[in-house]
Amino acid sequence: MPRLILLLLISALAAQAQQPNGLGDRARRYLVDLIRIDTTNPPGNETRAANYLKQVAEANGITAELLGEKPARLNFVARLTAGSQSADAARPLLLIAHSDVVPADPSQWTVPPFSAAFRDGFIYGRGAQDDKSLLAAELAVLVELKLRNVRLKRDVILLSECDEEAGSTGITWLIRNAWPKIQAEFALNEGGAALDTKSRARLYQVQTSEKIPTRVVLTGKGTAGHGSLPRPDNPVVHLARAITRLADASQPVQLNTTTRRYLSEIAKLPDYQWLQPMLAKLENPATALAAADQIAARDPELNAMLRTSVSPTMLTAGMKVNVIPNQAAAQVDVRRLPNETRQEIESRFRNIINDPAVAIAPEAGQDMPATEPSSLTTDLYVAMEKVFKQADANAVVVPFMSRGATDGSYLRQKGMAVYGVPLFLREGGESRAHGNDERISPENLKHGTELLYKAVTAVAAQP
Ligand SMILES: [Zn+2]
Repeated sequence: MPRLILLLLISALAAQAQQPNGLGDRARRYLVDLIRIDTTNPPGNETRAANYLKQVAEANGITAELLGEKPARLNFVARLTAGSQSADAARPLLLIAHSDVVPADPSQWTVPPFSAAFRDGFIYGRGAQDDKSLLAAELAVLVELKLRNVRLKRDVILLSECDEEAGSTGITWLIRNAWPKIQAEFALNEGGAALDTKSRARLYQVQTSEKIPTRVVLTGKGTAGHGSLPRPDNPVVHLARAITRLADASQPVQLNTTTRRYLSEIAKLPDYQWLQPMLAKLENPATALAAADQIAARDPELNAMLRTSVSPTMLTAGMKVNVIPNQAAAQVDVRRLPNETRQEIESRFRNIINDPAVAIAPEAGQDMPATEPSSLTTDLYVAMEKVFKQADANAVVVPFMSRGATDGSYLRQKGMAVYGVPLFLREGGESRAHGNDERISPENLKHGTELLYKAVTAVAAQP
């Protein structure tokens, strides 16, 4: 074979080898690349990830733009359009993932957190679960739709937002300044999870609602003095009493459409049959608290779904052991049910603490919106149910209220139905999001990306 042809052949083969084949390979390539782009927030530097996404999108003929307030912290938006039938096209589908990650302390990890090392069958790295696996899957699906030339009945938008982990400045800026670019009928976001139960049912938890972070500061005030002379108005004592009263108090039980459906669905599984007799008791104000306490004793995660939760987490008081301070403060991580207001919470806490020497105030910072749960009857929710059940004979699909907050609530507040999509299995039954040695297996990533492709085409492709 002539040398030149041989060289051409080799370079053609090499180029082909660099092209990921299929959804799973493509998602894996994107995930590895994204993990290696350090977007620790703070400071974020999400523009690096946004530039990468833009380069991949444009290399595949997808138009994309970077938008935002700060040059180092841009959001990425790409859109596949419904084409010539757009006059009667349905409203868009939005795919969201955030590009920032929480910090990782390398000394706590067994591999460098931004290496995307492959070991023991897993891809390791900060963001492998939260949220770069979803971002990689969404990008892979968008590219697949484009390469297969899928005819769309609605636009499909991909949004990679900055600053989800620290301030939600990405999504709030976009809502204020670029709403038409992300406006959609419904959206898929983080917040869902697939779990295997003991009875071998696989629970696909679609997040339709979330608890609202409602941090409060308790401040005890008294008179400073010598430690040798005990004082009845010692603020350390008043504060300690207030914290104990608050943490020991039973918060009222309230169900919403999501949690009611969730509990009744999982109570049908053998692992949760013990819940069955509790369901009616939870609905009756006379028996709800006792039933919730029984549930709490067996399953703290379910308990947190029934009521507002209270976790005192930080304390500040005193300068020296022999000086009584005139002030002591505690920060409390409160996660309230979306159907309660901050004012209701604060006035209830005031009654529980019942001490004029201890003041309750909201902690400065973001105040996330509380919204109704997203509907269980949209085309997208129905399509997800169908896709998950078709892919997996043991699938049980349930709406779910997450304890943790996502940026989905800002979009729900704008009237968009937002679903935390349970693409990936919680491997080994554990979540390492925000933890050490965060990881995902390529099989899990591939399976989840294929589920996403099916759900997206079910609602966005022309029949
Ligand atoms: Zn996240």
